[in-house]
Amino acid sequence: MEILSPAGNLEKLKYAIKYGADAVYTAGKEFGLRAQSANLNNNELKEAVNFCHKNDVKIYVTVNVFAHNSEINKLPSYLEFLDSVGVDALIISDPGVFVLAKEHASQIPIHISTQANVTSWKSAEFWKKLGAKRIILARELTKFEIREIKKKVPDLELEIFVHGAMCMSYSGRCLLSSFLNGRDANRGNCSQPCRWEYQLQEKKRPNESFPIEEDKFGTYILNSKDLCLLDQLPVILDYDIDSIKIEGRMKSLYYVANVTRTYKSALDAIKTRKDKDNHKLRAELDKISHRVYTEGFFHRFEAIDTQNHLSSAYIRNYQFIGEIVEQKENFVYIAVRAKFEIGDKIEIIFPDIAEDLIVQVEEIFDEDDNLIKFTKPNTIVKMYIDSDIPIHGIVRMKIK
Ligand code: SF4
Repeated sequence: MEILSPAGNLEKLKYAIKYGADAVYTAGKEFGLRAQSANLNNNELKEAVNFCHKNDVKIYVTVNVFAHNSEINKLPSYLEFLDSVGVDALIISDPGVFVLAKEHASQIPIHISTQANVTSWKSAEFWKKLGAKRIILARELTKFEIREIKKKVPDLELEIFVHGAMCMSYSGRCLLSSFLNGRDANRGNCSQPCRWEYQLQEKKRPNESFPIEEDKFGTYILNSKDLCLLDQLPVILDYDIDSIKIEGRMKSLYYVANVTRTYKSALDAIKTRKDKDNHKLRAELDKISHRVYTEGFFHRFEAIDTQNHLSSAYIRNYQFIGEIVEQKENFVYIAVRAKFEIGDKIEIIFPDIAEDLIVQVEEIFDEDDNLIKFTKPNTIVKMYIDSDIPIHGIVRMKIK
């Protein structure tokens, strides 16, 4: 079972791989349904494919736009380009794009996007007969439905989301954002109005009210919690699922790295029958910015525990403050993302959770070797660390 991580840009792609992803998914500048993400231009896509294949990692490219007539003519050359660079799969939701991919990128396997909302084995079988290699199932399925689909269509690969944000509509098939500020979720440009604070009033029924919780800012009737299926990995493994997917192409490289290594650690422990400290792994998922977690529809198809009506705010206990860009002897060079200062206790995380370090900051040097009291974002600083430092460290700190 592969761990599939998001790669919103080249830097995140490289961290996802360093931190344990078996495969990554990304998008080109067009047709990939994440208009607010940096995405990769054609040169970056070539570099990404080379980097992935050198590291024995697969790379899937989203072409999951619902194409309008004006886009049909532009798709063939892009699909031919993807075919020529050797990406490992295309992620597609639109039947028209599917047909074009068969014609213009015939060597690349096709994965059916969660946007296509495959919710039954019959629908999965339909796509398989047309030549799809894998289905990325809708998030709105129970484990019993997932198991039945695998049994009924055993030769078809199945991918499920295990972690990240959810929509209150079927996989983003939603017009809220289009209606409210002209940003179409179905074109990858959602402004997340489901997280806004609403007040509900029916004009002609002043004595009837919808029973909703409300704070001084309003209410959050449409606000989905974040999915977290870490504790369900033994079940998922048992069902012979081919790929577990982490949502979040627009999240930080720290998010991508930490969620990837946490799921990898949990999976390795299950596979090697080692005792794993699930509390420690859960704690790692609490150290990224997230909403209240839920196991979604995994146990039953009822939206009982999937919405947070109390707050749409992210829970942020830790701050991503930089990444180690160079190590010389016992000095580490940190590309600073957020301020920290002498006296702070910082944590440096590594691909192997067991190697994480907690460091009390005693001295910080700038690039010219001057002693400084605090750091500034977008600078490089240097610190002496009195222990062996593994490579690819990311620095975080508990929010004060
Ligand atoms: S508005 Fe909310 S539910 Fe609709 S697509 Fe955007 S994130 Fe999903």
